[in-house]
Amino acid sequence: MDDLRVAVVGAGPAGLYTADALLFQQELPVRVDVLDRLPAPFGLLRYGVAPDHLRMKSLQVQLQQVLDDPRLRLFGNVDVGTDVTVAELRERYDVVVHAYGAAADRRLDVPGEDLPGSTSATRFVAWYSGHPDVTPPSDLSCRSAVVVGMGNVALDVVRVLGQPAERLAGTDVPDDVLALLRASALTDLHLLGRRGPLDARWTWKELRELGEVEGLDVLVRPDDLVLSPDEQARLDDEPALRRPFQLLHDWAARPRSGAPRRLHLRFRTRPLAVLGDDRVRGLRVEGDGGRTEELATGLVLRAVGYRGLPVAGVPFDPDRGVVPTSEGRVLRDGAVSSGEYASGWVRRGPVGVLGTNRADGQLVADAVLADAAALPRRAASDDLEQLLESRGVAFVCCSGWAAIDAAERALGARTDRPRAKIVPRPALLAAARECARA
Ligand code: NAP
Repeated sequence: MDDLRVAVVGAGPAGLYTADALLFQQELPVRVDVLDRLPAPFGLLRYGVAPDHLRMKSLQVQLQQVLDDPRLRLFGNVDVGTDVTVAELRERYDVVVHAYGAAADRRLDVPGEDLPGSTSATRFVAWYSGHPDVTPPSDLSCRSAVVVGMGNVALDVVRVLGQPAERLAGTDVPDDVLALLRASALTDLHLLGRRGPLDARWTWKELRELGEVEGLDVLVRPDDLVLSPDEQARLDDEPALRRPFQLLHDWAARPRSGAPRRLHLRFRTRPLAVLGDDRVRGLRVEGDGGRTEELATGLVLRAVGYRGLPVAGVPFDPDRGVVPTSEGRVLRDGAVSSGEYASGWVRRGPVGVLGTNRADGQLVADAVLADAAALPRRAASDDLEQLLESRGVAFVCCSGWAAIDAAERALGARTDRPRAKIVPRPALLAAARECARA
């Protein structure tokens, strides 16, 4: 039987775990092409996981093994929708899997949100992760920053801003990021949640890390931890809520240590307006009981979640920001679209940790296997490689990525780091070409 030809759009954890599940099964011979609009693979593992989360970062070794499979080809720096359309992929492949995640950020929808000094945490994270398409958000010359939202992204951001920059010096953060963090004048970070302490979205392990950040006092107001009878009943019924709540209690009882930086956790406080004329000067908030207050700040980061974006030629549910699916199969006008699947955040929305994508990949691989006998095999007119070459698209293949990887490791070795990320897209493409020539 001919190999099943699969295109996976997105070389992040969702795409690569799906490719892995398809390549690992023994029932059907497959070949997988993985496309990504960035020159380098690994998606949010490379451009989202905080640089000090080394254990999570080490998942790259596993995902690299997927790329190393000879049945897989990488097409980095290829924008699906621009360089090649979804229809063209569907003509050339028996199976197309959408795994391009949630590229945008959610907004607060308050006045002043677009002032310089106000941006999304997703952009801020992309910046400190060396994403090629993101410019520095702001200088850090103000003394106070406000982070809105109580999920794990918010925790990453306050941890990166709260710890001494030297703690990140041994990681892969780009040099200009490190320089800005070293020059930071921040002394006070405010983390605001619009709901109560039982409704924060962070996970306990990540919350606990905050208390271990060197040079940072975590301050919790005891009044914020007073629960309504309903909340108390929830706490009694849901064991998972107890550990984080106890941690907050411990912090509320802890005396200040006099650390150089302070993190003020504020619950039941929501932003009303970002204040300032030419740039951010403050944030007006509404606290418990409707009381309004102005926090002086030069930096407002909204960490209120990611948002999926539509891709031309792919059905999209604008309310949920996802591709509509049933058991991983894409639905077009409510009916299953033959040979088209979705995996990861683009299927289930921007929730779950990186490892959640492994189950997602398996779900899609199982669906593909179950459907395989009935899938029409496409007689490919030409190969994707020829099509991209004919259009002058400078795509990065596995050996190009290996070249970038080697160049980044060599750069890192000069400063005793495992890797120093290459940031600008032209520099990434140049590194990929260098290797192709060698
Ligand atoms: P998230 O977990 O959905 O948290 C978003 C936060 O923003 C919530 O506290 C939410 O409050 C708040 N929010 C939303 N709209 C708001 C508004 N208009 N005003 C004020 N607050 C608002 O999103 P995330 O932090 O971006 O994380 C996305 C996913 O990635 C999560 O599954 C997360 O666990 C995962 N992640 C994991 C790690 C890790 O494992 N270390 C690191 C980063 C991200 P409400 O609850 O009131 O809506």
